[in-house]
Amino acid sequence: MELDKYSIGIGDRFAQEGVAQLKAVMKAQQEGVKISPVWNKSNREHLIVKSIPSDVRKEADNAVKTLGFSGKYFVDADHITLDTVTPFVATADFFTLDIASFIGTRLGQGEIEAFVRSCEKYIGTLTIPGIDQPFEITADLVSDIAGNFYASMRQASQIYKFLNYTKGKGNFITEVSMDEVGKPQNPIELFFILKMLADLNTPIQTIAPKFTGRFNKGVDYQGDLDQFAKEFEEDILVLDFAIGEFGLPGELKLSIHSGSDKFSIYPIIGEIIRKYDKGLHLKTAGTTWLEELVGLASAGGEALEVVKKIYADGLKHREKLSAPYSDVIDIDTDKLPSERAVKGWSSEKFVNTLRHIQENPDYNPNFRQLMHISYKIAAEMGASFVSLLQQHSDIIGACVEENIFERHIKRLFDDKFQIKNQNRFNTELARRK
Ligand SMILES: [Zn+2]
Repeated sequence: MELDKYSIGIGDRFAQEGVAQLKAVMKAQQEGVKISPVWNKSNREHLIVKSIPSDVRKEADNAVKTLGFSGKYFVDADHITLDTVTPFVATADFFTLDIASFIGTRLGQGEIEAFVRSCEKYIGTLTIPGIDQPFEITADLVSDIAGNFYASMRQASQIYKFLNYTKGKGNFITEVSMDEVGKPQNPIELFFILKMLADLNTPIQTIAPKFTGRFNKGVDYQGDLDQFAKEFEEDILVLDFAIGEFGLPGELKLSIHSGSDKFSIYPIIGEIIRKYDKGLHLKTAGTTWLEELVGLASAGGEALEVVKKIYADGLKHREKLSAPYSDVIDIDTDKLPSERAVKGWSSEKFVNTLRHIQENPDYNPNFRQLMHISYKIAAEMGASFVSLLQQHSDIIGACVEENIFERHIKRLFDDKFQIKNQNRFNTELARRK
């Protein structure tokens, strides 16, 4: 089983927007950019919204059938461990193995020494094609990397073996994620991590490292753009080199757990993957939920009242709601409007404050992040909230589709669309002559 060169992870908390999300992907296809949609949901999210893994499969299949989509699509058991994987086995075909909790687990000295010995040919000056500066690799460095990561890669290989046994070899996509950890991995760490996975016979197809900078949920990237570009480019080159050195799958590509809406780095990522003709998996999550709120707020009336209530409750319980997201949320509480102020807002004011249009003077990333983590409140409203989504599905669907296509896909693949438009223009010109 293989992903297309480009794939996008789309999350959908209440499983109502599959068709709108797929429309965005199909729009890209019409413009000449083929992307595999991957519906992802983590165990944590299932627990909070009280859904089960087969719901995601149903949603994906239904969207594909409704729109007659003939491309490849997948269902991702996102951030699963050996303890949580079982309920996903029957209906998922993409597994994101989260090994974060095993990073730093100490190994026996013998195991570390054996790994260092197997890396002998890389000790000294290591040149990775495409990276100007050679790396100085010492036995101590490799030993530290093994100490930090080997136990977690062994964990990944155990989950992989379990899936091979239960689903059958080749019947699923394997991703390893290390993004939910404190410290970013550098390109050399990534190189030796890939060696460990190859040694452990775990042929992953995507890997999600943690990058430098903040990837806060639903808002733009915070960090040094040049540093990010350098790191991302080096990671791409490391992957290429590792494929040749270790015999990993040729389609192996980077996965970016973006937390959605990383508008300032999308063009950088796009430029680098095109420079090297590489694939990419871009995982988004939560951005569709925020568009549901935008849609409800624009609908006005009762729908607007409900989103105001979600904000008011979110404000009240913000500490509890943000606890599981401490690494990926930065809310300046001084910049949050009061419940009273929001109560008086028009549809337009609410939408402008929430929607991710940075040029809009009303846009407030603190407000947006709070709404992002407040989905638990909507989940507690249960069927009445879902029925509100269904009642306003037209307006919400338009918001969801526009957001995925215009603000995410287009920013990543802008050049491709420009080339297509240029070709169209040339054809038109030739026709007129
Ligand atoms: Zn992640």
